[in-house]
Amino acid sequence: MRITRIVETSVPLRGEIANALVDFSRHTVSLVAVVTDRIRHGEPVTGVAFNSIGRFAQGGILADRMIPRILGADPESLLDETGRIDPARVLRRALADEKPGGHGDRAGAAAALELACWDLNAKLADEPAYRTIARHFGRDVGSKEAVAAVPVYAAGGYYYPGDGLDRLRAEMAGYLDSGYEAVKMKIGGASMREDLDRIEAVIDVVGSGARVAVDANGRFDPAAAGDWAQELSRYGLRWYEEPGDPLDFALNAQVIAGYPGAVATGENLFSVRDVANLVRYGGMRPGRDIFQMDAGLSYGLTEYAGMLEVLETHGYHRGCAFPHGGHLINLHIAAGLGLGGCESYPGVFAPFGGYSPGCALADGTITPTDAPGFGLEEKPDLAAAIADLVG
Ligand SMILES: [Mg+2]
Repeated sequence: MRITRIVETSVPLRGEIANALVDFSRHTVSLVAVVTDRIRHGEPVTGVAFNSIGRFAQGGILADRMIPRILGADPESLLDETGRIDPARVLRRALADEKPGGHGDRAGAAAALELACWDLNAKLADEPAYRTIARHFGRDVGSKEAVAAVPVYAAGGYYYPGDGLDRLRAEMAGYLDSGYEAVKMKIGGASMREDLDRIEAVIDVVGSGARVAVDANGRFDPAAAGDWAQELSRYGLRWYEEPGDPLDFALNAQVIAGYPGAVATGENLFSVRDVANLVRYGGMRPGRDIFQMDAGLSYGLTEYAGMLEVLETHGYHRGCAFPHGGHLINLHIAAGLGLGGCESYPGVFAPFGGYSPGCALADGTITPTDAPGFGLEEKPDLAAAIADLVG
């Protein structure tokens, strides 16, 4: 088997929403297709993936560096012992001649490529990607009914132009009506008083602080992060996410020292080494704090599995891993690896956010369908972009 073609396109996110730091209306995502010489149903078997949500498309890095390296490699060198494309080998080849460290945009570019190889292998096995992933990492997924339902929470509560508490309440009530049992909202984009009013309104709608997480998106300096920890302590929240700069591990440890509830972070850590440093210096408490690394932003599933190994070596449980990024790829990763759950973005970040119509949401869990691979082709708005890309 050989890769015959790799194509990428930049797809704009739809929606006018913002968190404390970022306006998403100009964001783009790299959609990548890895085309092979295997023919099925009259078409070449093609792996498709993207570099999660919340950063930018990486067409330059892919076109100038990574894709030529892979297409220029000896095809045999990209295969595993069973003759399938080996995502880890593809990743290594994509990163040839790159220095270690400095895990920035290239981590997302490589992730889209690496994840497309997982989609490809699942399609070759004619099974949903979570089964391929579980088998590869030695996990018994058992029956579909028993294992594939993934706990999810509705991540919303963004700041909208002309926003008000009534709109926020209606948004949260809508999540409960559609089957979510936990929600997340943004903080740090308004005054503290306004944000506390927003939090209290959301707790009022969903019934308990234990079902509400708040996300500061790394906005606060150490003093503000500590002040907020003190204010938030009384609500018994599900978690307090990214209080300060994601690489300021001392700040994270300081917040945790003064906050009895769970702290969540990790979505902006892109490597095994970064996660090892978070574990060493960030004060994260086993059994309480939440890790949100996202394979789509951090070199893909091979690197993500290495991060899980670091966590488990240091006494953390994978049930405390809730990847950032509410989309089909992370749903399959969470199901395949037995993670605590994952994020969900109902109605935002189209066409990448959210799940396909066949993914059942019930009692706060979502079950992937049996579509081969990540099932991205079952999402109508994304299927159109994939068809355009593959041509
Ligand atoms: Mg976040």
